[in-house]
Amino acid sequence: MEDKEESYIDAIKKDLKKKIINKVKNEILQDIYKEIAEKDDILTDEVISLLDKKISSNSVVKKKNFKPQKETLPKQQKKYECTISVQTILKTAAHALKYANSNIPREKWIEVIGLLAGKLDKNKILHLEDAYPMGHGTAITVKIRNPDNHARAFKEIQKNKQFICGWYHSHPSYGLFMSKEDVGTQSVYQRLWDKAVALVIDPYQINGKSFGFKMFRADLNNGNWNEVPFMIKGAVDVSVLPEFLKFINPLTEGKALFLEYDEE
Ligand SMILES: [Zn+2]
Repeated sequence: MEDKEESYIDAIKKDLKKKIINKVKNEILQDIYKEIAEKDDILTDEVISLLDKKISSNSVVKKKNFKPQKETLPKQQKKYECTISVQTILKTAAHALKYANSNIPREKWIEVIGLLAGKLDKNKILHLEDAYPMGHGTAITVKIRNPDNHARAFKEIQKNKQFICGWYHSHPSYGLFMSKEDVGTQSVYQRLWDKAVALVIDPYQINGKSFGFKMFRADLNNGNWNEVPFMIKGAVDVSVLPEFLKFINPLTEGKALFLEYDEE
């Protein structure tokens, strides 16, 4: 009888614990995304340090070469040349979805473009800290059209003590690669600064297995492109990105994140 009672109390405790964890998790997520919606400069160091674990993209991108030996793992993680913040990923994905979502007929989906900003550390690791949405194009191509806007973004980036680390554009639902035109654009950035990267995002590939984006550099000698190994800053496992994106998705369609029951 006592045993039964104890296990009953344990079960209640377990249940309560789970509910509290979920509640706290949800509240934190809501706060974070409220800030994303309101201003640029979020994901502070405190949040990042809360999200402590680092996930290397290598284990996903280069699955074929992945050997699950203990001593090879840290070496592989050291190979990344670039880190990217969750804010940058969600901003580029949200920007892409703004012009390619279920409220828009698929044949009218178009590409978006923006700048990537951040810092280079003394070990020559590029840290992408934020994305600056610039504009949108057509179904197959996109360009930053207005040089004045480029200058405006540049000022904003400087004000945030960052510098332009490259550019991003979207391939809504057609995969992660560099077209000839993309390589051409990237070559311009790379001639200005050899560490510049091109990020291609396809939000429809953020499926829990793929990050839904890749980073590239052009080979200026032969017009080919290579992937740049990266790591996500914070404890973000590839499997949680769809949940994040789903949460902020209403914003990309100009709706409220959620409604109170009173509002419905
Ligand atoms: Zn492209």
